[in-house]
Amino acid sequence: MKITLLAGGVGGAKAAEGLANSRFAEHTKIIGNVADDDEFHGLWVSPDIDTLIYSLGDQIDRQQGWGRKNESYQVLGELRAFGQETWMTLGDLDLATHIFRTHLRRLGVSASEITQRLAMRHGVSMPILLPTDDVVQTRVNTPKGWLSFQEFFVREHCQLDVLDIEYHGVEKATPTPSALEQIVHSDVIVIAPSNPIVSIGAILAVPGIQQAIEASSAYVIGISPLIGGKTVKGPADKMLESAGKSIDSKGIYDCYTSFIDALVIDESDKHDAAWLESQGIKVLVTPTLMATTEDKTRLLTETVEFALLQQKQRAA
Ligand code: GDP
Ligand code: CA
Repeated sequence: MKITLLAGGVGGAKAAEGLANSRFAEHTKIIGNVADDDEFHGLWVSPDIDTLIYSLGDQIDRQQGWGRKNESYQVLGELRAFGQETWMTLGDLDLATHIFRTHLRRLGVSASEITQRLAMRHGVSMPILLPTDDVVQTRVNTPKGWLSFQEFFVREHCQLDVLDIEYHGVEKATPTPSALEQIVHSDVIVIAPSNPIVSIGAILAVPGIQQAIEASSAYVIGISPLIGGKTVKGPADKMLESAGKSIDSKGIYDCYTSFIDALVIDESDKHDAAWLESQGIKVLVTPTLMATTEDKTRLLTETVEFALLQQKQRAA
């Protein structure tokens, strides 16, 4: 059995941990998002991939959901003293990751290979694949003009209106053979409760990835990142709105219509189930807030078991 998890940062990492702690761990590979990558102080930072690695390696700051635990900020303080912009909070331990990544990158090592080496250092055994080894960067158009994703997200605290979103460089990006092969041979594809526009959208936008999912015989099940019609954290609501989609389960379904077989929604959104089912997809209604390890393991186990059951019934 082969399971694929499409994952962004914080929501994606919670789902990845749920699978890593479940009986499906050995069967799962993750496809992560590289479009939030950016350069700071001459270093290449890949926030969503590092969030996955730090979470699965139990090195994450659990309070924040990102960055390293037991972190210090001496280097950042020194950079500030040099008059550098330090709104991107990069801790000392975290900076070592970015130094190592940048060094390998300059030697011509692929982003996929660098990810593997970082994962190995943190004892992460669940493979993390990249949708592409090329540089793709999400940009957000706001009343202040086009911003990099991190400028919008971290520097501006998602406060600006979102007028438009682009994945810069995506047209020329090549999908990695490992991601395509993983999708083609998957029995179940789980879409994490990640931002559907920037995290999952940027993975799907790499030429060939969405087409491979549509063509695959895998059962595709998404977990909604909305609870009670609201995001748990982050700008998914603004981004759905700017994409002309409603901020509810229907809006999430609209992002994935061409390939989704089932959607997992929170109990507080159960009134959306009838409409979703009328569109021909299956719906699992269950608590989807992942606060504890138990929450994560239960939700992801339920999700994969539901997908396997539905797939069996469909085949019968
Ligand atoms: P980012 O890259 O760090 O912004 O993280 P993701 O794109 O992976 O996830 C962001 C989305 O995760 C937000 O829209 C949140 O609403 C959603 N999210 C975070 N935690 C949870 C959770 O425990 N349950 C659910 N259902 N959604 C969550
Ligand atoms: Ca992200």
